[in-house]
Amino acid sequence: MSVSPGLNPPVPGQHGRFGPFGGRFVPETLVPALIELDEAYAQARRDQSFQSQLRSLLREFVGRPTPLTHCPRLTDACAGASIWVKREDLAHTGAHKINNTMGQVLLALRMGKRRIIAETGAGQHGVATATACAHFGLPCEIYMGSEDVRRQSLNVFRMRLLGATVNEVTTGSCTLKDATNEAMRDWMATVGETHYIIGSVVGPHPFPTMVRDFQRIIGDECREQCLSRLGMLPDLVVACVGGGSNAAGIFAGFEDDPSVRLLGVEAGGRGTKPGDHAATLCHGSPGVLHGCKTMVLQDSEGQTMPVHSCSAGLDYPGVGPEHAAWHLSGRVRYTSVTDDEALDAFSTMSRTEGILPALETSHAIAAAMHEAAKLPKSAHVVINGSGRGDKDVMEAMRLLEQRSRTPAR
Ligand SMILES: *Cc1c(COP(=O)(O)O)cnc(C)c1O
Repeated sequence: MSVSPGLNPPVPGQHGRFGPFGGRFVPETLVPALIELDEAYAQARRDQSFQSQLRSLLREFVGRPTPLTHCPRLTDACAGASIWVKREDLAHTGAHKINNTMGQVLLALRMGKRRIIAETGAGQHGVATATACAHFGLPCEIYMGSEDVRRQSLNVFRMRLLGATVNEVTTGSCTLKDATNEAMRDWMATVGETHYIIGSVVGPHPFPTMVRDFQRIIGDECREQCLSRLGMLPDLVVACVGGGSNAAGIFAGFEDDPSVRLLGVEAGGRGTKPGDHAATLCHGSPGVLHGCKTMVLQDSEGQTMPVHSCSAGLDYPGVGPEHAAWHLSGRVRYTSVTDDEALDAFSTMSRTEGILPALETSHAIAAAMHEAAKLPKSAHVVINGSGRGDKDVMEAMRLLEQRSRTPAR
């Protein structure tokens, strides 16, 4: 789906536009499928029975609502604002991604599509998709680059345990973008019976809007929990941004509260040189990636650039179009956190609060600690705890050992 600008004109119309971003930049053969999905989703969104079915699934299977946990010892360590964390790590499968896959599988069933496909890089979205499919007994095929299959063998095994077929993609660089192309090819050929689940607020309309809506439960719950626990809205909400779905989900709950500052945190990797980070909004430029207009890390020819982050979930050269619009309007501020800073936050959060965060989440924690230190004790900062860190302990061990061998940094 990496379609170059100009090759395929966007489908006209205002739908799925976020300021100058969003839209549909896809091969013509896919347009009918996207229109069908758009219409089905618009109906489902208004349908009380769909919404109540989804609510009960989220309660009974996913374990929602997730708590809002106060972090007194992390707060003390920063000597500033009170820090809270919204516990998406306690959702089934250990991250927020399940909110979206349950919603999309329910929608696929409603549309009469009995076969589910998805692409995955690190495997987290593949596992969340395979989980939702197993719950409903739907056949599931996951496209994954052979390089990623090798690096993420545990997630491949998880998907297979859950009954999914993992299709290894051996074209191009054998990573996420090649897997995405293969998934698109599959969808174009089988759209009558297949739904393609995109895992973040990216891709052609209606995906960015639909995925945001399915993740919005995080922000809606969190806003209510703040009002009842703090007796007020928080001063600042912080979330990490890969494609941007956990951030869009929590930000959506506070977007219309002008007193609440919103901060998105990108992967600063090893530094600001091209190829060393995945900080798309901090360093990118407008372009077309994976079917929509957004901010992209690209060279002067419009080729997407290689990206790096210690966290596989933030390792993406684009970002959701709504984030590009929030960046442009200034409603959300975006910053980046390096691998080293994230690793420090990973250790601090584990030690002070007994919560092992995902390395992705650790980026948000690092930025939140920095901001909390500058705020008065009466202020409140909420971190979106996008996922748990059990999946990352091997990588953290490797990085911490590497760091202890190179003391001068
Ligand atoms: C996938 C993932 C992310 C990044 O994805 P977004 O769409 O930006 O939310 C962040 N945290 C965790 C734990 C993840 O698994």
